[in-house]
Order: sequence, then structure tokens, then C-alpha cells
Amino acid sequence: MMTPLCAKLVPSPVSILRSSWLIAVCVAPIWLSAQTTIDTTKLEDEAVQRTTEYIRLNTTNPPGNEVQTMRFLARILQQEGIPFDTASSAPGRGNIWARLKGGPKPALVLLHHMDVVPADPKYWDADPFAATVKNGEIYGRGTLDTKTLGIVELEAFLALHRSHTPLDRDVIFMATADEEAGGVFGAQWVVQHHPEAFRGAGFLINEGSMGSVDGTRQSFAIEVTQKTPFWLKLTTTGKAGHGSTPPPASAVNRLIRALYRLQTYDFAPRVVSAVATYFAAIAPTASPKWKDVLTNPATLTTDHNALAEFQIDLPELAALVRNTCSITGLQGSNKINVVPPEASALVDCRLLPDQDHEAFLREFTGVLNDPDIKVDKIIDFTPAVTATNTPLYDAIVAVVHRHFPDASIAPSVETGFTDSHWFRDLGIASYGFAPFMVPEAEQSGVHGNNERLSVENIRRGTQMMLEIVSRVVSE
Ligand SMILES: [Zn+2]
Repeated sequence: MMTPLCAKLVPSPVSILRSSWLIAVCVAPIWLSAQTTIDTTKLEDEAVQRTTEYIRLNTTNPPGNEVQTMRFLARILQQEGIPFDTASSAPGRGNIWARLKGGPKPALVLLHHMDVVPADPKYWDADPFAATVKNGEIYGRGTLDTKTLGIVELEAFLALHRSHTPLDRDVIFMATADEEAGGVFGAQWVVQHHPEAFRGAGFLINEGSMGSVDGTRQSFAIEVTQKTPFWLKLTTTGKAGHGSTPPPASAVNRLIRALYRLQTYDFAPRVVSAVATYFAAIAPTASPKWKDVLTNPATLTTDHNALAEFQIDLPELAALVRNTCSITGLQGSNKINVVPPEASALVDCRLLPDQDHEAFLREFTGVLNDPDIKVDKIIDFTPAVTATNTPLYDAIVAVVHRHFPDASIAPSVETGFTDSHWFRDLGIASYGFAPFMVPEAEQSGVHGNNERLSVENIRRGTQMMLEIVSRVVSE
């Protein structure tokens, strides 16, 4: 927690007219006079401009080509006179990090990924890589996921450096490649090959959650854990032949039967404690229909009809009360009249954060009920939950409250995964949080069409990130 004498954020006399803040920072009460003025208007202008430039660098993964955004960020750090390191995990796959030195407390990492998912311009109202501004919003792939978060983190980092703010801990800015494909060339590679980049790290901010507004209802989620991806490939083999004489036990037929058993199987619902905490926090602002269930979610494990309805109304939340598997890929013959000797399927399973993976695999293969089906793991990450009793969590909550006094704030469990699990594995308290309040209808822009973020969000997000970081570096 902050001491009352340190790191006060107070409006400067001119702040009513210009969104400028006087940040008073001290490392000990006797240094209270060490005050620094940070011109947040300049930071906000830079953030808007740099978001635009960043979006225009197309880092669609595959192939990623994050070396171009690595150079873009390197140029900025160089201009500011901040030392940085770069490393490429493969041709074109750049990563970059920089560290501001501070006191001995565990370091704070400001993380984001530089790659984006593909965007098909024919479904967009504006070119996804032109950063066009329409009605006060910047359209572009990466505005929500997650280049703008990276820019507001960068601006907070630059502000600390420029103002010579005394820091009681190191602050690390980190931008990685390849998150959208699992982080093999990004976060995972940096953790394995450059552990020095994270030396002394104790806290981390990354993508994972943001604010949401639906009518007058405002809510902020701070992601503390996520369902774990457990991606599997199933392969069957059988007698090959001519399509005119179908063998009953062909590879394709056996695969289809097993997949049907999987598709019609319900994994047992259960409510893990992180999910119960999340549901309880959002219950007060939920629709009246679901208030009681969210307050007492055990109902969902006993009342089959309630769960079925919950799944229709709130599918994102329903996915948090059981392990799930989606059959996403199928491969058989590539010729219509050939019965292939081999068939395969891709299955995207997502496991609850406390699930024992080997026990799940036993259940899964039992459901397939065909011992000759080969099951290979494609991705199997370890689960971990970050506690909420940390100075970083407190700082995020305090700053969200200041800007959105009516918003509910909840420690959330997310159905999707981010790079945070690599850092939770290292014992770093990691939170998924972006300081943006986005209309619920626009959140589908993440990996969807017309991804966009308002200029107002970028400006306010720049202030919020600086406030959060300022609190954490001068508790
Ligand atoms: Zn992302």
C-alpha cells in the first residue's frame, strides 16, 4: 500500500483546463520536496500518434515479422537515451526489452505482444492496417489486441525516465513476438534464452482483461487466471482402398465415431474458487435473471436446465464452470474416391485452472473409447492463479476507482489464454489488465472485424497506466 506521504497524484492548478497532472514522488518522507511535473498532454499526444504508426506496421502472424515493430520501438527508446536489448528467436521474429533501474523491491514488468491475428479487409469498414480515424475511433488490427496497451505502457515507462522519478523497484518494458501462435518465438523463447530480462521481476501487467460498458453499466475485470489450453491431435489408421467399396473400419469411420462420442459427452460442471470469486464480484451488476445464480453458482452443478440456459445466455461465463473441448480440424483423404489409410482431427480442449491434466487425458481417452486412436499433445500449459493481495492489484483497483467511480471491479478468470502463464510459472504475480473502457458490442473486435479503440480511451488509458505504475514504484 502507498504511504500517505509518497507518490501523490494531485491535479496541477492548470489541470482543469489541460489534462496535466503534477506527480509528486518521494522515496522517503524526507525527500518529499523532490517533485516532478509530468506533462501528460504530451504523453497522450504521443500515445495517439504512436498507436497509429504501430497499427500501420503489419505484424500479422503468421508470419509475424515483428522485427519491424521491434525496430520501431528500438528507435523510440534510442531517441530517449534508454538502453535496451533486442533478440530474434528466428528470422524476422524480434523481441525487445528495456529496464529502468530502481530500488531493491521486486521489479515491475510492462508486457505486451507485437503480433496480431489476420484481418480480411473485405469484412471491415476501414483498411485494418491504415489506422483510419472515424467518429473518434482508430480502426485497426491490434488496437485492442494489443498494440495500444503496449503504447500506453511505453508512455508510462518514458515518463518515469524523463522525469528522473526515483523508483523503489526496477521497471521493465517488454515487447514480444508470436503470442497469437502460443509464444514459442516470443515469451516462451525469451524466458528460456534470456532469463536475465526478467531478473528480479515480481509483478507484471499484460493483456487479458479490460473495462466494459453496456448501457450505463460499467465493469472492469482484472484477469488473475485463465483456462489452460490442452490441444490434442487424434490420429486413426485403417485399411485403405477404393471409395466404391467402403471398408467399415476405415480410419475416417473410426475417427468419426469417436468424435461423435466426444461431441455428445458433457464434462461434469464444477465451480473452482477463482471462478466463484469472479462470479460473486460481477453478480451485483449482472442482469436480474442471473444475479442469484452468480451469487450461488453451485446451482449450476446440480440443475441441468439452469446450466443449459446459462450456456445460451452467457456462453463465456458458462465455459468457466467445466472443461470443454471443441473439435476444430478434420483431415481425411484429399481425393474423393480414395479411402485414406489415415485420418486425423484437431481438438481444442480448455481445462479449469485446477484440473490435473493426466486425469483429464484419462477421462478424454475413455470417452473416445477406441484404444487404437493415437492422441498427441500439441499444447499443454501449466495452470496458475495470481493472488489479489499485492501492491500492483491494489494500484489497479485504486486508479480504476478514481476514473470510473461507478464501475464494478472483479478479479476474473478468462476462457482464452495469453502469455501470462509463462510468467506465473516463474512466480511473477501477473495481471491481465488494459486501462480501456470499451462498449461491450465492440469487444468482438478482438480477433473479429472492425477492431477499434477511441482516441479518448487512448488518452485516458495513458493517464491511468502512468498513475498505476507511479503508485507501484513509490509505495
Ligand atoms: Zn493478444
